[in-house]
Parts: sequence; structure tokens; C-alpha cells
Amino acid sequence: MENKDSSKISRGDLLKGLVKKGGLMMLGGLPWAAYVEENKEEEFVLRPPGAVDEKKFVESCIKCGICVEECPYDTLKLAKPGDDALTGTPFFTPRDIPCYMCTDIPCVEACPTDSLLKDLVSDDNDKYNIEKAEMGVAVIDRKNCLAYWGIRCDACYRACPLLDEAIVLNFERNKRTGKHAMMKPEVNADICTGCGMCEHACITEKASIFVLPREKALGKVNDDYIKGWDKEDESRLDSTNIYIDKNQVEKSTLDYLNDTGSLLNDE
Ligand code: SF4
Ligand code: SF4
Ligand code: SF4
Repeated sequence: MENKDSSKISRGDLLKGLVKKGGLMMLGGLPWAAYVEENKEEEFVLRPPGAVDEKKFVESCIKCGICVEECPYDTLKLAKPGDDALTGTPFFTPRDIPCYMCTDIPCVEACPTDSLLKDLVSDDNDKYNIEKAEMGVAVIDRKNCLAYWGIRCDACYRACPLLDEAIVLNFERNKRTGKHAMMKPEVNADICTGCGMCEHACITEKASIFVLPREKALGKVNDDYIKGWDKEDESRLDSTNIYIDKNQVEKSTLDYLNDTGSLLNDE
């Protein structure tokens, strides 16, 4: 994406230079550390792609607004007093304007601080890959989604830039009518970027699919549960405190977790 005008480049470059030299460590006479101290992270706010976790984000964002200026779709806004986000920090509201997942991610490219990190939205070869963004995850309200009523609607599915990956349609027989098919959307949280194009497209009065920050939408499993069928997850065994007795070492993790024999034999 081309920059909208060259003055922004120089402003961004200037700020990058200043930040590197610590030139913005004071804000209106208030020491930066004290200023950050007052800032609390916001729980339900959606940040731009590449944003570090919320706590670090509110500490590192200098509220310069460069990412907002560089966004070609006016997706990003700087929070005003009364908005859900901390005043001056960038956020977006997908129902109004989603993130259109620019392949060159100008918001990240322009950020002069470590608030938006290229590494978080790049492949191993250091090339931008917006599909790695984790802005949030879409959640479906099955009570109000028309497709779950049996009414034909695939607006969110069609709007998704990762169609058939981030959202799939599951076909089911409509038990109520006995003769129609239902096409129920389902989100794959491993692929969904949280761009919000689905939320923007949803045709119900209040969106029945909406994006939440991943920490809010997803649960968390204790470290000692391991997917024995997943080699990558199984490798976590090396770094956990799970006790495996000598008789079990030859077995796969899946066998181990499914074997209740040792539990039954315990005194
Ligand atoms: S990637 Fe999204 S937030 Fe960033 S500039 Fe593009 S539309 Fe705006
Ligand atoms: S995220 Fe980066 S570019 Fe955007 S306002 Fe904060 S410091 Fe500036
Ligand atoms: S937020 Fe919606 S449109 Fe965007 S990737 Fe996830 S499911 Fe697809």
C-alpha cells in the first residue's frame, strides 16, 4: 500500500528517530514511567494487527497516531475520552469498519515503537503475512444467527477473506422442517485473524458474529494436558512436570493419557 502523502513518511521517520533516542520519554513534563503507571490495559478493545499484548501495548504506545494515519481504510481510530480504549491509543470497531488485512500492513510498518511488531505478522523469511495477525477471534451467537434458525444466510462466510479456512459452513438436515438443509457457520480459531469483515457483513440488527480479543473469547487448558496425537504439542512434555513412570516411557502420550490402569491400581 502506497503512503497517502510523503509528509507522513517524514513525520514517521522523525518520530522513529526520536523514539530511538528517547526523545519522547517526557510528555508534558510528566515522566513517562509515571504516565504509564496510570494507564490500565483495556480488556475488550481490538488493537491493530501486530499489537503486542495489551499490558505491553498501553505501556509502549506513545499515542502518536501514525498507524491511524497510515491505515488506508480509516479502520483505526485514536480513542477519545469516553471510548472503551485508553484515550489516545489506536483501536478499531469492526461493525463500523473492519480491518481489510492489507498485505503490506502499513500500520505496522509505520509504528515507531514496539507496540506493533513486524515479527508478529511475518513469516520466518521476514516477509509480511497478514494472515498471521491475531487481532481477535470471531464468535457466533448461535441463538440469533439466522443460519442456526434454518434461514439461508451466508453473509459472514462470503465476507471472510479466509473463506473455507477461518469460517466453514456445516451442512445439516433441518429437523424442524424435515426437508431442508441448514448451513451453519463455524469459526476456526486457529485461522481467524479477528479482522471483523464477518461482523461488518452480518445482516442481523446487532451482529450475531462478532470479534472479541482472543484472551476473552478463548479458554485456556492447564499445561499438563497434552494432545498426544499432535507431535508439536507432545513436544511440550519435555518442559512440563508431568510424571511418567518407567513402565509408561515406551508408550505414546495418547496411550498414556488413555490408560486408566495405573490409576485403578493406585493404593
Ligand atoms: S492492516 Fe488493517 S488496520 Fe492495518 S492499515 Fe490495513 S486495514 Fe488498516
Ligand atoms: S501503535 Fe505505534 S504508531 Fe500507533 S499510536 Fe501507538 S506508537 Fe503510534
Ligand atoms: S474475523 Fe471473521 S472475516 Fe475475519 S478471518 Fe475471522 S472469521 Fe474470517
